[in-house]
Amino acid sequence: MKAETIKRAIRDVPDFPKPGILFKDITPILSDPKLFRAAVDLLADRHLKGRIDKVAMIEARGFTFGTGVALKLGCGIALIRKPGKLPGRTISASYELEYGSATLHTHTDAILPGERVLLVDDLLATGGTAAATAGLIEQLGGTVVEIEFLIELAFLKGRAKLTRWPVYAPVVF
Ligand code: AMP
Repeated sequence: MKAETIKRAIRDVPDFPKPGILFKDITPILSDPKLFRAAVDLLADRHLKGRIDKVAMIEARGFTFGTGVALKLGCGIALIRKPGKLPGRTISASYELEYGSATLHTHTDAILPGERVLLVDDLLATGGTAAATAGLIEQLGGTVVEIEFLIELAFLKGRAKLTRWPVYAPVVF
């Protein structure tokens, strides 16, 4: 299935969660097993040959595609979560969002030194979330092999914040 078919299923929700934001709703992809499978394949298959030790994924929509990718690649998962969710010792990073600011945490043992990590999230907007998360992975001694998003909002130029890492996004608006 082509990225174009997945693109057509994404639902635009104007003024969510704030006036002026055109929210890209991926739930129609999750509802349809063929679309969901195709989305996971697009993100996972390009890494079937390389060595990936962990898929790091960002709460909450990143968990959906990221888990599929990790299962397909046969590797572990590192959860990147909002404050107050992870029970163990964590490290954190704060950053600016398209709408507001945020902090993300991960367990200090989520990634081991030398591990090759694929970072997965649903959507690249301004790039702050992914840049902060890639920083956390590197702080723990991991190598960010690639940052993958199902969707890129190219007009927000988020790639400018991610020039240190390879970036892949099959669906571009
Ligand atoms: P950013 O740090 O600006 O790249 O924001 C990326 C994060 O915010 C992703 O985890 C997205 O899920 C979410 N996000 C930002 N803008 C949008 C949007 N217009 N539609 C859907 N999700 C968005």
